[in-house]
Amino acid sequence: MDLSKFDWKFTLFGTPVRVMATFWIICVFFSPFMSGHEGPWLFGLLGWSVATLISFLTHEFGHAFAMRAVYGGRPTIDLGIGRSASGVPVFGGVTTSYATSNDPLKRAFTAASGPALEIAIVFLGIALMALLGLRFEGSLTFGIVPYLSLDPKSLAFLRSPALLFFVYYLIEGFVWIGLVWGILNLIPIFPFDGGQILLSLLSRAMGRRGTRLALGISIALAGGLGILSFKARAYFMAFFLIFSAYQNYRLLTSRGY
Ligand SMILES: [Zn+2]
Repeated sequence: MDLSKFDWKFTLFGTPVRVMATFWIICVFFSPFMSGHEGPWLFGLLGWSVATLISFLTHEFGHAFAMRAVYGGRPTIDLGIGRSASGVPVFGGVTTSYATSNDPLKRAFTAASGPALEIAIVFLGIALMALLGLRFEGSLTFGIVPYLSLDPKSLAFLRSPALLFFVYYLIEGFVWIGLVWGILNLIPIFPFDGGQILLSLLSRAMGRRGTRLALGISIALAGGLGILSFKARAYFMAFFLIFSAYQNYRLLTSRGY
Protein backbone atom coordinates (compact mmCIF):
# COMPACT_ATOMS: atom_id res chain seq x y z
CA MET A 1 0.00 0.00 0.00
CA ASP A 2 1.41 3.38 -0.96
CA LEU A 3 1.10 5.66 2.04
CA SER A 4 3.34 8.39 0.61
CA LYS A 5 0.37 10.52 -0.43
CA PHE A 6 -0.30 11.01 3.29
CA ASP A 7 3.23 12.36 3.86
CA TRP A 8 3.38 15.76 5.51
CA LYS A 9 6.29 17.73 4.05
CA PHE A 10 7.64 21.10 5.14
CA THR A 11 10.93 22.97 5.44
CA LEU A 12 12.12 24.19 8.85
CA PHE A 13 15.39 26.11 9.49
CA GLY A 14 16.28 25.39 5.84
CA THR A 15 15.96 21.61 6.41
CA PRO A 16 13.39 19.55 4.45
CA VAL A 17 11.24 17.47 6.84
CA ARG A 18 8.94 14.55 5.90
CA VAL A 19 6.47 13.23 8.48
CA MET A 20 5.18 9.84 7.28
CA ALA A 21 1.62 8.74 8.06
CA THR A 22 3.14 5.95 10.20
CA PHE A 23 4.52 8.59 12.57
CA TRP A 24 1.05 8.98 14.13
CA ILE A 25 1.04 5.23 14.94
CA ILE A 26 4.12 5.81 17.13
CA CYS A 27 2.30 8.67 18.90
CA VAL A 28 -0.67 6.43 19.75
CA PHE A 29 1.38 3.32 20.56
CA PHE A 30 3.66 5.00 23.11
CA SER A 31 0.89 7.15 24.61
CA PRO A 32 -0.71 6.39 27.99
CA PHE A 33 -4.07 5.92 26.21
CA MET A 34 -3.49 2.42 24.81
CA SER A 35 -5.10 0.65 27.78
CA GLY A 36 -8.24 2.77 28.04
CA HIS A 37 -8.61 6.09 29.82
CA GLU A 38 -11.24 8.13 31.65
CA GLY A 39 -12.09 11.72 30.69
CA PRO A 40 -11.62 13.63 27.41
CA TRP A 41 -8.65 11.42 26.48
CA LEU A 42 -8.80 12.36 22.79
CA PHE A 43 -7.60 15.86 23.72
CA GLY A 44 -4.90 14.22 25.82
CA LEU A 45 -3.80 12.12 22.85
CA LEU A 46 -3.70 15.26 20.70
CA GLY A 47 -1.43 17.00 23.23
CA TRP A 48 0.74 13.87 23.50
CA SER A 49 1.09 13.66 19.69
CA VAL A 50 2.15 17.31 19.41
CA ALA A 51 4.71 16.63 22.18
CA THR A 52 6.03 13.55 20.34
CA LEU A 53 6.44 15.61 17.16
CA ILE A 54 8.31 18.37 19.04
CA SER A 55 10.59 15.84 20.78
CA PHE A 56 11.44 13.87 17.65
CA LEU A 57 12.04 17.06 15.65
CA THR A 58 14.32 18.45 18.38
CA HIS A 59 16.30 15.18 18.33
CA GLU A 60 16.69 15.10 14.54
CA PHE A 61 17.49 18.82 14.35
CA GLY A 62 20.30 18.17 16.86
CA HIS A 63 21.78 15.82 14.23
CA ALA A 64 20.94 18.14 11.32
CA PHE A 65 22.54 21.27 12.83
CA ALA A 66 25.67 19.28 13.76
CA MET A 67 25.89 17.69 10.27
CA ARG A 68 25.54 21.07 8.60
CA ALA A 69 28.24 22.48 10.85
CA VAL A 70 30.82 19.71 10.33
CA TYR A 71 29.94 18.18 6.93
CA GLY A 72 28.26 21.11 5.17
CA GLY A 73 25.55 20.15 2.68
CA ARG A 74 21.83 20.03 3.33
CA PRO A 75 20.56 17.15 5.51
CA THR A 76 16.96 15.91 5.32
CA ILE A 77 14.77 14.60 8.14
CA ASP A 78 12.28 11.67 7.95
CA LEU A 79 9.93 10.78 10.83
CA GLY A 80 7.79 7.64 11.14
CA ILE A 81 8.17 3.92 10.42
CA GLY A 82 9.29 2.96 6.91
CA ARG A 83 12.08 4.09 4.63
CA SER A 84 13.66 7.49 4.11
CA ALA A 85 13.77 9.05 0.62
CA SER A 86 17.32 7.64 0.28
CA GLY A 87 16.21 4.14 1.33
CA VAL A 88 17.48 4.09 4.94
CA PRO A 89 15.12 2.14 7.28
CA VAL A 90 13.42 4.50 9.72
CA PHE A 91 11.98 3.65 13.11
CA GLY A 92 11.18 6.92 14.82
CA GLY A 93 13.35 9.38 12.97
CA VAL A 94 16.43 9.64 10.80
CA THR A 95 18.53 12.54 9.52
CA THR A 96 20.30 11.86 6.23
CA SER A 97 23.22 13.84 4.88
CA TYR A 98 24.84 13.21 1.50
CA ALA A 99 27.80 15.25 2.63
CA THR A 100 29.63 13.06 5.16
CA SER A 101 33.07 12.32 6.58
CA ASN A 102 35.13 9.30 7.57
CA ASP A 103 36.51 11.15 10.58
CA PRO A 104 35.30 9.08 13.61
CA LEU A 105 35.30 12.12 15.90
CA LYS A 106 33.00 14.04 13.54
CA ARG A 107 30.71 11.00 13.28
CA ALA A 108 30.60 10.60 17.08
CA PHE A 109 29.82 14.31 17.43
CA THR A 110 26.92 14.29 14.94
CA ALA A 111 25.50 11.11 16.55
CA ALA A 112 25.68 12.58 20.07
CA SER A 113 24.13 15.91 19.05
CA GLY A 114 20.60 14.47 18.57
CA PRO A 115 20.04 13.08 22.09
CA ALA A 116 22.06 15.96 23.58
CA LEU A 117 19.81 18.67 22.10
CA GLU A 118 16.65 16.66 22.86
CA ILE A 119 17.54 16.18 26.55
CA ALA A 120 18.82 19.77 26.91
CA ILE A 121 15.54 21.19 25.54
CA VAL A 122 13.56 19.07 28.07
CA PHE A 123 15.53 20.52 30.99
CA LEU A 124 15.26 24.04 29.55
CA GLY A 125 11.49 23.52 29.17
CA ILE A 126 11.14 22.21 32.75
CA ALA A 127 13.13 25.20 34.08
CA LEU A 128 10.89 27.65 32.19
CA MET A 129 7.69 25.90 33.35
CA ALA A 130 8.96 25.82 36.95
CA LEU A 131 9.56 29.58 36.73
CA LEU A 132 5.92 29.92 35.60
CA GLY A 133 4.82 28.09 38.76
CA LEU A 134 4.30 24.51 37.50
CA ARG A 135 5.45 21.77 39.91
CA PHE A 136 7.32 18.58 38.94
CA GLU A 137 8.05 15.46 41.01
CA GLY A 138 10.86 12.98 40.47
CA SER A 139 9.95 9.36 39.58
CA LEU A 140 11.26 6.41 37.55
CA THR A 141 10.00 5.09 34.22
CA PHE A 142 10.41 1.33 33.53
CA GLY A 143 11.84 1.29 37.08
CA ILE A 144 15.18 2.63 35.81
CA VAL A 145 14.90 5.83 33.75
CA PRO A 146 14.78 8.93 36.02
CA TYR A 147 11.89 11.09 35.09
CA LEU A 148 10.05 14.24 36.19
CA SER A 149 6.28 14.10 36.40
CA LEU A 150 4.01 17.16 36.31
CA ASP A 151 1.73 17.73 39.31
CA PRO A 152 -1.73 18.08 37.67
CA LYS A 153 -2.87 20.34 40.54
CA SER A 154 -0.53 23.05 39.25
CA LEU A 155 -2.72 23.24 36.11
CA ALA A 156 -5.93 23.77 38.14
CA PHE A 157 -6.27 27.27 36.65
CA LEU A 158 -7.30 25.62 33.35
CA ARG A 159 -11.05 25.35 33.87
CA SER A 160 -12.00 23.32 30.79
CA PRO A 161 -11.32 19.55 31.19
CA ALA A 162 -10.54 19.26 27.46
CA LEU A 163 -7.93 22.04 27.66
CA LEU A 164 -6.55 20.56 30.90
CA PHE A 165 -6.10 17.15 29.21
CA PHE A 166 -4.47 18.73 26.17
CA VAL A 167 -1.98 20.84 28.15
CA TYR A 168 -1.25 18.15 30.80
CA TYR A 169 -0.38 15.47 28.23
CA LEU A 170 1.45 17.98 26.03
CA ILE A 171 3.80 18.67 28.97
CA GLU A 172 3.95 15.01 30.18
CA GLY A 173 4.69 13.79 26.65
CA PHE A 174 7.32 16.49 26.10
CA VAL A 175 9.18 15.44 29.26
CA TRP A 176 8.63 11.65 29.00
CA ILE A 177 9.39 11.22 25.29
CA GLY A 178 12.29 13.68 25.43
CA LEU A 179 14.00 11.88 28.31
CA VAL A 180 13.11 8.28 27.41
CA TRP A 181 13.82 8.61 23.66
CA GLY A 182 16.94 10.67 24.35
CA ILE A 183 18.33 8.19 26.90
CA LEU A 184 17.31 5.02 25.00
CA ASN A 185 19.11 6.31 21.91
CA LEU A 186 22.31 6.62 23.93
CA ILE A 187 22.40 2.87 24.80
CA PRO A 188 25.43 1.60 22.82
CA ILE A 189 23.55 -0.63 20.37
CA PHE A 190 24.38 -0.08 16.68
CA PRO A 191 22.86 1.63 14.61
CA PHE A 192 21.32 3.79 17.36
CA ASP A 193 23.12 6.99 18.29
CA GLY A 194 24.91 5.45 21.29
CA GLY A 195 26.07 2.52 19.12
CA GLN A 196 27.35 4.90 16.45
CA ILE A 197 29.28 6.90 19.05
CA LEU A 198 30.85 3.70 20.47
CA LEU A 199 31.66 2.31 17.01
CA SER A 200 33.28 5.58 15.88
CA LEU A 201 35.39 5.92 19.02
CA LEU A 202 36.46 2.25 19.19
CA SER A 203 37.32 2.15 15.48
CA ARG A 204 39.41 5.29 15.96
CA ALA A 205 41.24 3.75 18.93
CA MET A 206 41.62 0.15 17.69
CA GLY A 207 40.87 0.12 13.95
CA ARG A 208 39.00 -2.89 12.59
CA ARG A 209 39.17 -4.70 15.95
CA GLY A 210 37.39 -1.73 17.53
CA THR A 211 34.56 -1.91 14.97
CA ARG A 212 34.13 -5.62 15.66
CA LEU A 213 34.22 -5.03 19.42
CA ALA A 214 31.48 -2.35 19.12
CA LEU A 215 29.29 -4.77 17.13
CA GLY A 216 29.96 -7.50 19.74
CA ILE A 217 28.90 -5.14 22.55
CA SER A 218 25.75 -4.27 20.52
CA ILE A 219 24.85 -7.99 20.17
CA ALA A 220 25.41 -8.70 23.88
CA LEU A 221 23.45 -5.64 25.04
CA ALA A 222 20.58 -5.98 22.55
CA GLY A 223 20.31 -9.72 23.26
CA GLY A 224 20.46 -9.27 27.05
CA LEU A 225 17.98 -6.38 27.13
CA GLY A 226 15.79 -8.30 24.66
CA ILE A 227 15.56 -11.29 27.02
CA LEU A 228 14.86 -8.97 30.00
CA SER A 229 12.09 -7.23 27.99
CA PHE A 230 10.62 -10.60 27.08
CA LYS A 231 10.57 -11.60 30.76
CA ALA A 232 8.91 -8.26 31.59
CA ARG A 233 6.31 -9.10 28.88
CA ALA A 234 7.32 -6.04 26.85
CA TYR A 235 7.04 -8.17 23.70
CA PHE A 236 7.29 -5.33 21.18
CA MET A 237 10.48 -4.05 22.81
CA ALA A 238 11.82 -7.64 23.06
CA PHE A 239 11.22 -8.28 19.35
CA PHE A 240 12.81 -4.97 18.42
CA LEU A 241 15.94 -5.63 20.52
CA ILE A 242 16.40 -9.24 19.43
CA PHE A 243 16.01 -8.14 15.81
CA SER A 244 18.73 -5.51 16.46
CA ALA A 245 21.00 -8.20 17.94
CA TYR A 246 20.45 -10.33 14.81
CA GLN A 247 21.20 -7.41 12.47
CA ASN A 248 24.42 -6.68 14.34
CA TYR A 249 25.36 -10.36 14.14
CA ARG A 250 24.84 -10.23 10.36
CA LEU A 251 27.03 -7.13 10.11
CA LEU A 252 29.75 -8.77 12.22
CA THR A 253 29.82 -11.90 10.08
CA SER A 254 29.59 -10.02 6.77
CA ARG A 255 32.78 -9.35 4.85
CA GLY A 256 32.89 -5.55 5.18
CA TYR A 257 33.61 -5.85 8.90
ZN1 LIG B 1 19.43 10.13 16.78
